[in-house]
Amino acid sequence: MKTPENSMTISYWQKSEETITRDALESFQLEKLGETLRHVYANVPFYRSRCDEAGIDPSRIKSLDTIKRLPFTTSDDLRLNYPYGLLAVPKDEVVRVHTSSGTTGKPKALFFSKGDIERSANLIARCLVMTGTGKSDTLQNMMTYGLFTGALVMHYGAERVGALVIPAGPGNTDRQISLMRDFGTTAVHITPSYALYLASVLQKKGIDPGKDLNLRRAYMGAEPYSEETRKKIENLFGIDVYNSYGLTEMNGPGVAFECPYKNGMHLWEDHFLVEIINPETGEVLDEAREGELVITSLRREAMPLIRYRTRDITKILSDTCACGRTHRRISRIMGRSDDMFVVKGVNIFPQQIEQILMGIKGVAQNYQIVLESLDQLTIKVEISKDLFDGNIDHLLKLQAAITAKVRAEILVKPTIELLEPGTLPVSEGKAKRVIDIRTM
Ligand code: ADP
Ligand code: ZN
Repeated sequence: MKTPENSMTISYWQKSEETITRDALESFQLEKLGETLRHVYANVPFYRSRCDEAGIDPSRIKSLDTIKRLPFTTSDDLRLNYPYGLLAVPKDEVVRVHTSSGTTGKPKALFFSKGDIERSANLIARCLVMTGTGKSDTLQNMMTYGLFTGALVMHYGAERVGALVIPAGPGNTDRQISLMRDFGTTAVHITPSYALYLASVLQKKGIDPGKDLNLRRAYMGAEPYSEETRKKIENLFGIDVYNSYGLTEMNGPGVAFECPYKNGMHLWEDHFLVEIINPETGEVLDEAREGELVITSLRREAMPLIRYRTRDITKILSDTCACGRTHRRISRIMGRSDDMFVVKGVNIFPQQIEQILMGIKGVAQNYQIVLESLDQLTIKVEISKDLFDGNIDHLLKLQAAITAKVRAEILVKPTIELLEPGTLPVSEGKAKRVIDIRTM
């Protein structure tokens, strides 16, 4: 692992909050949990009846464990209460709404007060300063502006640290490249799938992403990706890639973020209280175990959420981090509990396959997993153009190597199809990696 530059490790945006002692942090959490519960008890009938049913008196919260007596809040609760059912302040106090698409049915609406916007901008500012972005940087924001939180929330935080922000949005790759060159972009906010695509377009144009750009770092999130993909992108562009985690329900980006040590994402525990549960049974697990992340917001004003089930699979890393921040870290998100699929009785996350593919020389940027039956899976893999040189032996060898490596990881033998680069659909937002034709 690269050793972070010293100057980076000592930069904080809110030093006393970021390096608070664990004891002080826990008392602060207790205080904020009490405030949050009193606030929703007084203003959100949905939560008032939940507290009453659990026999919780919000004016006497003595322990953080008290919330374990409350039921989880799920994305269905948000949909059923759409649009204003979970709002905790008068509508006049709301200054912004974001929605989250989810998969089916009604969207989820999430509201922000002025204070919520302020606090989320500060959380992003912590993340940016922690990774070396400041006044002298130009940040090209390639996430989707609009109803999604991704771009706007990052935008506000980047302005706050004084960076020059290019509100590029995703797509229109030729224009992205011109902007990067014209303005000397030093940092990008981008999805991993789009970063891989961008690299391939640059290469096609004869631009060396590592040498011909001014880029120094990328903030990458919004979808699961593996350590291998991070390394691949870092090498292609010659930059540092920092993992960024967030969800609309908790402001969007800025919930958890990597520091220069890149050993898990610091989750800002003065704003979010976390638990890990078994996604099937709902049982609260020891936090060092892998399971579903459940978050209670501690500082949201317009729409606090109590024990919100993220569906994201991770674990909590409690060992101290050399950067000096005391907020614990979460490990790279394995996937969403609903992304997991089963082939031949084996539970598989797309990311396990991605991690293998991206570590194999000759594999290019794009792939797709096709589920054909309960015991059959095909992986379509784009490979480097120069491998299609008429030598069938090379192709067969690569195909056998991919088959063996994937099989060793997931214990199921896949069918591997090798494709020329540019064959598979490209995504500008979140990639759709798994095509399930069993139910079509
Ligand atoms: P939706 O995709 O449901 O519309 P959001 O746009 O709010 O919702 O996306 C939030 C989700 O994106 C998270 O719950 C998580 O599944 C995924 N996500 C965000 N950042 C990361 C990351 N760094 N690694 C893996 N997954 C991520
Ligand atoms: Zn750290």
